[in-house]
Amino acid sequence: MLRAVVDKIVLDEPKTIATLGSHSALQILKGAKDEGFNTLLVCEEKRLSLYKRFKFIDKILTIKNYNEFLDSRCQRDLHDANSIIVPHGTMIAYFTYDDIETISVPIFGNRKILQWESDRNLKQRLMNESQLTTPKLVKCKDDIDKLCIVKLHGAAGGRGYFLAGNKESFEDNARLLLNQKRIASENDLFIQEYIIGVPTYLQFFYSPLSRQIEFLGADIRYESDIDSMGRIPAKQQLSVHLEPSYNVIGNIPLVLIESLLEGVYAMGERFVKASEDLVPPGMNGPFCLEGVYDKEGVFTTFEFSGRIVAGTNLYMNGSPYSDLLFDKPMSMGRRIALEIKIANETGFLHKILS
Ligand code: AMP
Repeated sequence: MLRAVVDKIVLDEPKTIATLGSHSALQILKGAKDEGFNTLLVCEEKRLSLYKRFKFIDKILTIKNYNEFLDSRCQRDLHDANSIIVPHGTMIAYFTYDDIETISVPIFGNRKILQWESDRNLKQRLMNESQLTTPKLVKCKDDIDKLCIVKLHGAAGGRGYFLAGNKESFEDNARLLLNQKRIASENDLFIQEYIIGVPTYLQFFYSPLSRQIEFLGADIRYESDIDSMGRIPAKQQLSVHLEPSYNVIGNIPLVLIESLLEGVYAMGERFVKASEDLVPPGMNGPFCLEGVYDKEGVFTTFEFSGRIVAGTNLYMNGSPYSDLLFDKPMSMGRRIALEIKIANETGFLHKILS
């Protein structure tokens, strides 16, 4: 019997890797199957027809809506299957941290990091502690004196973000969001300096077992409709008063020039170290540093994710970087399953679960 970090949970040999049907569920469960685990998907009724297509999903627990994931019935079924839950972006978007704390089934990684990801102030603190260059924060709309990006709290996938170059354009756009009831007041908005360059998502995995950081891939998000605006000539853009939105539609692979890689590893290592200090036992498993490379090759980090990101779905069969580290195709989902397998075999499950 192995005791997981969660109080009162005694875990027999983990047999099943489970997740919620959304985001990166296919990658996570395919990777789990490739490493020899049973796979379980907790799935909303309306998405069943999609997920039933995939033979590597052994069992599907059907729920009416995401909230039922937290119910005791669902948790009991997950326990009965000796499951470990792999969290992803949908869990962050739909559940509060208090909800996540009520989950009695062991979660892969340090669940406290998820709180630091969802809370804007904690997030900034961890990025500062990691000595990452971050965009200047603009405290109030009166201080907007150059191009800024205005964001909503939470993992909204860029929905509702807008650009503002002055107080008036901030107020015009904020009014729209208020009318649509997307925000309750302007205080729900968060203003950041806009960084010009290549928006880049750096995908890492940290193993507390080997104490190694692995850089496994990079991607660019393709967002509607900001990324399609370049297809419309400036004259037409002006005549129809386009206001960009940043709703992620998909991801495009990116291979960095090799001279950037040393800096990539250094940022990832500083992040792991800072998270050990601020959120013990620290970051373990997948995380992503999200930012912009400017024309000097300097990376400004505007966000991090403390769990698997959907951009890793690009590399279900491994990435150029995972190929350098492993002699088999290694997706992020499979890397998670491999870590669970190694931890189980060596008696260190408590180091990777919470
Ligand atoms: P996020 O939801 O924070 O990942 O951001 C969504 C998109 O907004 C990103 O892919 C970027 O295109 C853009 N973005 C966010 N923050 C900044 C920033 N400070 N400067 C430039 N672009 C940004």
